[in-house]
Amino acid sequence: MLSDLSTASDRDAAALVAGLRAYFRSGSTAEVSWRRKQLSQLRKMISENEERFLQVLHADLRKAPQEGYLTEISFLYNDIDHTLKSLKKWVRPRKVNSPMLTQPAKSYVQPEPLGVVLVIGAWNYPLQLLLSPLVPVIAAGNCAVVKPSELSPATSRLIAELLPRYLDNDAFACVEGSVAETTALLEQRWDHIMYTGGGRVGKIVMGAAAKHLTPVTLELGGKSPCIVADDADLEVAARRIAWGKFTNAGQTCIAPDYVLCSKDTANRLTPLLQRVLREMFGEHPRESPDYGRIVNSQHTLRLADYLGDGEVVAGGEVDVDDCYMAPTLMRNVNLSAGVMQDEVFGPILPIVDLDDFSKVEEFVNNREKPLALYVFTRDDALANGILSRCSSGNACVNDCMMFMLAQDLPFGGVGASGMGAYHGEHGFRTFSHYKAVMRRRNILDIDIRYAPYSNRKMKFLRMLSK
Ligand code: NAD
Repeated sequence: MLSDLSTASDRDAAALVAGLRAYFRSGSTAEVSWRRKQLSQLRKMISENEERFLQVLHADLRKAPQEGYLTEISFLYNDIDHTLKSLKKWVRPRKVNSPMLTQPAKSYVQPEPLGVVLVIGAWNYPLQLLLSPLVPVIAAGNCAVVKPSELSPATSRLIAELLPRYLDNDAFACVEGSVAETTALLEQRWDHIMYTGGGRVGKIVMGAAAKHLTPVTLELGGKSPCIVADDADLEVAARRIAWGKFTNAGQTCIAPDYVLCSKDTANRLTPLLQRVLREMFGEHPRESPDYGRIVNSQHTLRLADYLGDGEVVAGGEVDVDDCYMAPTLMRNVNLSAGVMQDEVFGPILPIVDLDDFSKVEEFVNNREKPLALYVFTRDDALANGILSRCSSGNACVNDCMMFMLAQDLPFGGVGASGMGAYHGEHGFRTFSHYKAVMRRRNILDIDIRYAPYSNRKMKFLRMLSK
């Protein structure tokens, strides 16, 4: 199968999809044993090349091996293992009741594969965000083309090299490239498109999908607020917020984008965050082997621009050539400036203090629905109130990002932060069609539905629908 369309035209993309579709139609991918084999092969691909994967993650984003292992590799192992363990249950038809008028009959919901799926990945978790959607794509019995992000070229190259060595080449292909290649792929007719990235390209993806009435899952981003109440355990909160924000140098779609709290809490939290940052990355984070880099100089310059949007109270050092920005805390930020209008997606944490803490919900609800919402408090009623009145793709109380580890929780956005979800069975459902089936027998053909109609039939019908 083609693994590089970099010089290819729409015709090559069309041929690639046609080949995959022909294989899908052969029925091979619907076999549960085939799905299991592919999932095991995917796991093997990662485990046999773990060191190489950790190296390319380091090359692309200077990810520390431990961080790469936790957030990308072990994440995928858990994902695959959970899927292999649960697949038998997920593929089973689910019986439902058949009403009297249909008797004798059996009714059930039968998951069936969709066909050929396009998976477009993002650069910030270049391995996990490409392969984690592929797990349910395979589990549901589909073929797929995966398109890694060109902004993480080392990981993209390695996936393109290894995938054809481990997976069924008649069913899967990896296409590397950037806008031209993605555009050629998007011209094609898919049975589902799964896109992870920003909203601007999300609109392009959805527009292309609309031409073929193809369903989409859009995993987007946004500004995820982190509300810290006055009663929060600030020692714990500082550690967890710093971890959530500065892992992968802040380039995480569910990183807390900004802190929202009272002035008093901001005054107490700021020195704790400063201390935690020193503990985690030392006095000179640039020399820390555990601190990552910005994906490229363009994004580093974008982030550097935000430093003028408020008062830098920690960090603020930038080296564009090294794609480095120190873990940075900001206060007194201008709410109408870039740092509070755009998703930060980097190592800058604005701490926004409100004169009136009761306005937090209004603050959040006046903005786009976020991908994640964090609340730090000891007060369950306060957390419940915020969670019930503020919509978000995902939410976590007294921590950041940890919900990602629960395989049974769906992961996805709402409103501007995306549509559709995956992880665990939710992913299996996304890449399956749930077909409604009724099986009838040839006996007891009650005549009340057939013309000629009569009062007797009407009476009987009324009786049955009571
Ligand atoms: P990106 O630049 O890697 O783009 C994503 C994909 O879109 C790439 O594969 C790229 O080749 C393709 N692409 C880029 N321009 C295109 C075009 N004009 N036409 C067609 N395809 C094109 O990623 P990004 O957008 O910089 O990612 C950052 C954003 O993604 C942030 O907003 C972040 O929050 C979000 N994100 C969301 C999730 C999630 O799971 N919800 C995960 C990671 C990132």
